[in-house]
Amino acid sequence: METRKLGRTGLEAAVMGLGTEYLVEATRETVVSVVREALDKGVNYFDVLFSYADYRDNFGAALEGRRDEIILTGHLGSADKDGQYRRTRDIAESEALIDDQLTRLHTDHLDVLFLSNCDEADDYRRIMAPGGLLALAGKLQRRGKARFIGLSGHKVPVSRRAVQSGEIDVLMHNINLSGDATEGRTELYHLCAAHDVGLVGMKPFAGGALLGPDGPDVTPVQCLSYAVSQPGVSTLVPGVKNLEELRAALAYLDASTEERDFSAVLPHFQEPAEGTCVYCNHCLPCPSGIDIGKTIRLLVSARHGDLEPFRGHYEALEARASDCTECGACMERCPFGVDVISNMQQAVELFECNPLDDTG
Ligand code: SF4
Ligand code: SF4
Repeated sequence: METRKLGRTGLEAAVMGLGTEYLVEATRETVVSVVREALDKGVNYFDVLFSYADYRDNFGAALEGRRDEIILTGHLGSADKDGQYRRTRDIAESEALIDDQLTRLHTDHLDVLFLSNCDEADDYRRIMAPGGLLALAGKLQRRGKARFIGLSGHKVPVSRRAVQSGEIDVLMHNINLSGDATEGRTELYHLCAAHDVGLVGMKPFAGGALLGPDGPDVTPVQCLSYAVSQPGVSTLVPGVKNLEELRAALAYLDASTEERDFSAVLPHFQEPAEGTCVYCNHCLPCPSGIDIGKTIRLLVSARHGDLEPFRGHYEALEARASDCTECGACMERCPFGVDVISNMQQAVELFECNPLDDTG
């Protein structure tokens, strides 16, 4: 499976991870079978959200003997009461719940510890203030119980502040076809890339709304292809309830370029500006083997931030923009009127010609 660097953590995350919130009521047998099949398919990022004892014990059993292969996360501030999820900002309770997670998952550390579920400005101020959850995360980090600190949230303003604060290494945010029309989401993704903050996409199916019987005519593969194509994304954590849903999600890995193409469904949710690339790769195949969507995405990302982090990604491409013969075949196929040849020329100039100091 393709892996991507999880921002400044330097960890290599498979592009398909696993969200586990829908496994909360699953039997241990189901959890073990889902986790084991995911591992065998190359999934190496597991987001363990809840504090329920049975749920944690099930993952402890499922990950037995495989802990060293994976990136394991936990959520500071995720608690429960009377069998229901509850958010807490109580420091002692939060610390005890992380110790409980470590015990139940038979490990001595989490790779990413999220300040969990932070969407409101007041809550953000509280958790980032002296003595708040961020301070607790730092303490756990110094004690070796957490390697990196992240924040999970659903609202752009707070997530922007977290990324710009320099305090977090990873942002977990909802990324999906239907929600990304919301103002500022794309800028947030670029901001993560510019700050080298790993971006983990949650809710790629919009909590299931995209795939329900009343939902639009879109496939799980198209949902995942859209989310994984967004700037700055390192990995996705689709939530699945059982093996059948896991297999539907992991079908992305073996899907053809045509199956991954989301250009036909995108206008149902968003109105891309004429001439703006949405990284859908509907324009492939390119006779020169250029991954057009990815090349343009790197070009746009580099313009939003420092060139240097993107130069390495660009140089790793199998075919570069300078391989473009200007045949124009892609432009005839692009539904969004993108001047691909011009973008290839700009990519050559930015990545292959200009020395760093001239890039602004
Ligand atoms: S150039 Fe057009 S078809 Fe190709 S990836 Fe961009 S938006 Fe999609
Ligand atoms: S114009 Fe360039 S990028 Fe487009 S298909 Fe032809 S060679 Fe590929």
